[in-house]
Amino acid sequence: MPAASPSPRFGGARCLWHDAGMTTPPIPAATRPHPSTLITVAPTGAETTKDAFPALPTTIEELVETAVRCEAAGAAMIHLHIRDADHKPTLELSRLTEAVEAMRENTTLVIQLSTGGSVHDPLDQRLAVLDALPDSCSLTVGTTNFGDDVFLNPWPFVCDLYELSQEREVVPEFELFDLGQVAALHRLLALFGLPFGGRVHCDFVLGVPGGMPGTADALVAGVQGLPAAVTSWSATGIGRTSLDVAFAALSKGGHLRVGMEDTLTFARGVAVSHNEELVARAAQLAELAQRPAMSTDGARELLQIKAH
Ligand SMILES: [Zn+2]
Repeated sequence: MPAASPSPRFGGARCLWHDAGMTTPPIPAATRPHPSTLITVAPTGAETTKDAFPALPTTIEELVETAVRCEAAGAAMIHLHIRDADHKPTLELSRLTEAVEAMRENTTLVIQLSTGGSVHDPLDQRLAVLDALPDSCSLTVGTTNFGDDVFLNPWPFVCDLYELSQEREVVPEFELFDLGQVAALHRLLALFGLPFGGRVHCDFVLGVPGGMPGTADALVAGVQGLPAAVTSWSATGIGRTSLDVAFAALSKGGHLRVGMEDTLTFARGVAVSHNEELVARAAQLAELAQRPAMSTDGARELLQIKAH
């Protein structure tokens, strides 16, 4: 019997996997999967009350306990909203500084302070958040209807906050609630150049009533619209869209944000009892995607955080 001749279609012994890699067009930086996954935990937010959800971490002690456990479970960055002694959202500088210092003492997490505050905070107080010297700050690139409220981010405020972050050497995370904000990010970078450190990191917040829905389609549309300068992005889905968005983000090369700011339900009818549960599940998904959770050193390198 003559030996079977190599299939002319597949070129015999040539490796299909290798061929596929060789013929794929170059992938833009924003959708090229990083070998590991940055997991950000957003443990508190400004919307849920302590009365309604006692497991929500609101005191500095609870935030430290949460941060330590979440770091052990795979988080590399923490996105913080601070509460006062009555568990109400506050932007009081001494309280923010106390929280940043407590995080630095007890964890190696990248510390990101929200500049969104609550929907009722005045703009000048939101700028003053940078006085607490966090590693990173959120920077929402436009105004969004937020349920019955309005999350106000007028263009001059966005520009002022961006310039201040450059001056204070704080790395911004551009928060994107809809496609208009993706377009505004192009404008912002064109006007003011790159952030401190030279990397551009975004976070899609999907599923807010008033913003883009928490679907894979919406996320893909957002990612496709990102400026070429974007070097990394994460995504979070509000409420029950959390898992849909997490799977879509991983398959599209993105990173993950999870936490009780965004979802209070672990599964149908099962409340989240600790932020660690959400981080551990995100780390599990990242492992399955063969992009395991990133270390805190890896996150500092990815985002080019200033050494403190
Ligand atoms: Zn937030």
